[in-house]
Amino acid sequence: MIFLRTVVIALLLVISVLLGPAHAQTAATSDERDPAATPDSSQPTPVRYWQTSIDGGEVVVVRGYTRRGNRHVVLLPDGRMAERRDQDLQPTDRPFRPWSARKVAKRLEAKFPKMQVDVTSRYVFVGNTSETFRRVTQRVLTTMLPGIRKFTRKWKLPARSPEFPLVVLMFRTRMEFDQYRRMPANILAYYDAWTNYIVLYEETRMFGTNPEIAVGQTISTIAHEGAHQILHNIGVQQRLSRWPMWIAEGLAEYLAPTKLGRKLSWKGAGLVNDLRMLELEFYVKAKAFDSPPGEMIAHTVQGAQLTSTGYATAWALTHYLANKEKAAFRAILRELTQLGPWQRLGTPNSEGLIEAQLTSFRQHVPTPLKKLEADLITYLDELPYTDPFASAPHYVALITLQRDKETGWKANIFHTEMQARRWSAQFIRQLDDDIQRHVEIVQVPNRPAAHQLIRQYARSRK
Ligand SMILES: [Zn+2]
Repeated sequence: MIFLRTVVIALLLVISVLLGPAHAQTAATSDERDPAATPDSSQPTPVRYWQTSIDGGEVVVVRGYTRRGNRHVVLLPDGRMAERRDQDLQPTDRPFRPWSARKVAKRLEAKFPKMQVDVTSRYVFVGNTSETFRRVTQRVLTTMLPGIRKFTRKWKLPARSPEFPLVVLMFRTRMEFDQYRRMPANILAYYDAWTNYIVLYEETRMFGTNPEIAVGQTISTIAHEGAHQILHNIGVQQRLSRWPMWIAEGLAEYLAPTKLGRKLSWKGAGLVNDLRMLELEFYVKAKAFDSPPGEMIAHTVQGAQLTSTGYATAWALTHYLANKEKAAFRAILRELTQLGPWQRLGTPNSEGLIEAQLTSFRQHVPTPLKKLEADLITYLDELPYTDPFASAPHYVALITLQRDKETGWKANIFHTEMQARRWSAQFIRQLDDDIQRHVEIVQVPNRPAAHQLIRQYARSRK
């Protein structure tokens, strides 16, 4: 029992730490650089080439990308962006030639003399992590790139080769990660659309308490940021564009499943990530009953930022659309590929909601939100999913309902008694007053026993 308690506590901690906005979103990243900037996105800048000096010396040819205020935002040949005033740029006829991975690696070797630099045909890995962490990160990311390109071809989305080498900075410790660039504590890794880098670190607080989950979560985070980087480099999401958070994050998460076990690797687009499913059980199920029907989806779709539940809901919604509303899913993504730098569907109101995101969503998915949310929950219940804690005790909430001669019941499975009680209380709160209800929470030794109990119960209620 002590073991179980440890597991459950560790699990809740992991989830609260990792389900939070664990990933810096690209839009947020670019906002941070200049919150006051209101770039004029209505007039696309014609593509122009200039010469300018970078890193305080070398003169290179750069390509115009967009503007911010009175400055040009230019692409450097290593894939980073930089701001330049007019007087810092000299027009040129020389061609713009993206650097090879080797050349990018050489620059980074000089910048990070104590880090090991590894080059593959597309990636440059810079790190001082353990050998295992380095190998796993490299394996996950290099297998993802062809996989995601295949996925985007299937959905008739852009799938060009990355123009620039993809750089991944891997620090051993949180302190080094913050020294490179200070991040809020709940951010464990991020893709930065400005530098085009993924930045992450190896050490996590959870390794002591539950190494298996910690490793799994770390790998999922790598794959999630890897998906952001790939989508920004094959033309699906234009750099500095500001997609609705639910689909930017939902899609990265959809593309991020990784396989646990001895060979930690990428699993393939849209497969079920068991750890995420576990989080969904905790969050989406509870949330759906926490708020009026349909509100969970409305809130997630409009959010300019995502709450902890928002990440799980965004993943679930993306997964659902990709499988059940294929035409809408494609239309939503195709529309968003058109968003240029700084562009977004609308501006957030005082509550941090972007109403235009819901309007656009409803145009593609006209199903009433109440029904959509019910369908989504059913869909989640039916997804093939291996509960990583299947052999640990579970709690079944059984609720019987009666009004006059009409009877009904509702059941759900949880990992903790507290969750089961909370869910039951929330469910009951939304019932009409004249409905009689009876709640029972039953502890069973494992997940199969929970399913069996519900089946028996269903039969007895017939
Ligand atoms: Zn993300």
